[in-house]
This record gives sequence, structure tokens and C-alpha cells, in this order.
Amino acid sequence: MKIIMLGAPGAGKGTQAIMISEKYGIPHISTGDIFRANIKNGTELGKKAREYMDQGLLVPDELTCDLVVDRISRDDCSKGYILDGFPRTIPQAQALDRALERMETSIDYAIDVDVPDENIVNRMSGRRACPGCGATYHVMFRAPKTEGICDECGEKLIVRADDQPETVQKRLTVYHDQTQPLIDYYDKKGILKTVDGTKHVDEVFGDITAILGE
Ligand code: ADP
Ligand code: ADP
Ligand code: ZN
Repeated sequence: MKIIMLGAPGAGKGTQAIMISEKYGIPHISTGDIFRANIKNGTELGKKAREYMDQGLLVPDELTCDLVVDRISRDDCSKGYILDGFPRTIPQAQALDRALERMETSIDYAIDVDVPDENIVNRMSGRRACPGCGATYHVMFRAPKTEGICDECGEKLIVRADDQPETVQKRLTVYHDQTQPLIDYYDKKGILKTVDGTKHVDEVFGDITAILGE
């Protein structure tokens, strides 16, 4: 099963993608996580990506597409995968389509987690991330068992540099300009499924599993 998660920054793509990955036993591939790991490790890619991420801009397609194509070509992706945060532009979607064609396969579902802009700013201001394992929490909606500490690995949680309100606003503008057109792109292919992302995490997951099957 090959799945793409669509939706605004903070819509809950990552939260749902991790749950899908566990239930269906397919790898979760988050371009944001890959870039953040590169930043943490001080790689050349990380240095380049950071310049864009800190401003709330998209990392250029040249730095993004090959990385994903490379990743989905690995053995652990043979039964499927869930792409979270990619594609984010029409050229990225086209690059993915070309690669999938070469591999003689295609995406099964593009799931749009729909959340209006006015809910996003609240979501983002309460988001806390684990720099150790990538887990995501929310101070009100999804609090860790011990305040400020990751349930999974015990690391101290942080506020992501790009989750400051001004940067969130910029990311939303970028989303509407560059990423939202993908909803139409996948609708035309007949694989778009929309879920109401304002519901509780577990309800959203229920709606997604109803689409994907047990
Ligand atoms: P969120 O989950 O809040 O939408 P991500 O972790 O997916 O954020 O992405 C964080 C940042 O990483 C983006 O704002 C962007 O700068 C960069 N990024 C992630 N994925 C892509 C992509 N497919 N194309 C370009 N930039 C990306
Ligand atoms: P994305 O990957 O789309 O940027 P995240 O999965 O990181 O979004 O979620 C953004 C924030 O909102 C996190 O703090 C997360 O814990 C919280 N969150 C995710 N889903 C929900 C939901 N259905 N209701 C309330 N908060 C949510
Ligand atoms: Zn952790």
C-alpha cells in the first residue's frame, strides 16, 4: 500500500502517518524528519535545507526529489510506504510520477487531512517535538505522560524553530500557493480521499482506516 499524506502544516499528517505506519507495517517517510536529521548531523544537505526551513520556505525541489526517489527504491519499501510532507509542489508530484512509472507502480491513496487555517496557529503553538526520535506532542491535545519529556525515548521536548507564529503564517501562505494545488492533482487521478482533521486524533485515524481497510 502506497500512501501520500496531504494537508497544511500542523494538520496532523505526521501524527496519523506514524499510526498508519504501525498498523499496516509500512515505513513512514517524512521529508521534514529527514531534513531535521541532516541539520542535527551537520551535513551539507542539512546546512542548505536549514536556510529555507528557518524562513518557512520550501527546500528547493532539486534537493528534495532525488532523496525521496532514492528512499522509496530501498528494499523495505517493496510492500509500500507512507509519504509525509512529500510531494509539496506540482514539480515534485511530477518527479514522483516519473519515478513510479519507471518502477512500474503507482500511489494507491492521497489522503488530505483537512484543517482550516484558524485552527492551525493553535495547533502549532502547542506542538512539542522530540529531537531524539521525532515523536510529536501537543501541550493540550496530546500531552506527554511527563511534561516536557518524550514518552518514547525520554529526551527533553523542544519547540521547533519554524513553529514560531510568524513562521507558521509564512508556511501557511506557502502551503496555499504551492502545495494546495496537489489536492486537485490527485483528485483528477481519482485517488484523493479527504478526512476531517479537526476531529480527535483517534477519530481521524478511524476515518483513515475505514478508507484503507482493516
Ligand atoms: P509540517 O509537518 O509542520 O508540515 P515538515 O516537517 O513536513 O513540517 O516540514 C518542515 C519544513 O521542511 C518545511 O517547512 C520545508 O521547509 C521543509 N520541507 C519538508 N518537506 C519538504 C518538501 N517535500 N519540499 C520542500 N521542502 C520541504
Ligand atoms: P503535521 O505533520 O501535519 O505538521 P503534526 O502531526 O505534527 O502535523 O500535528 C501538529 C500538532 O497538532 C502536534 O502538536 C500534534 O500533537 C497536534 N495534533 C495532531 N492531530 C491532532 C488532532 N486531531 N487534534 C488536535 N491536535 C492534533
Ligand atoms: Zn523521543
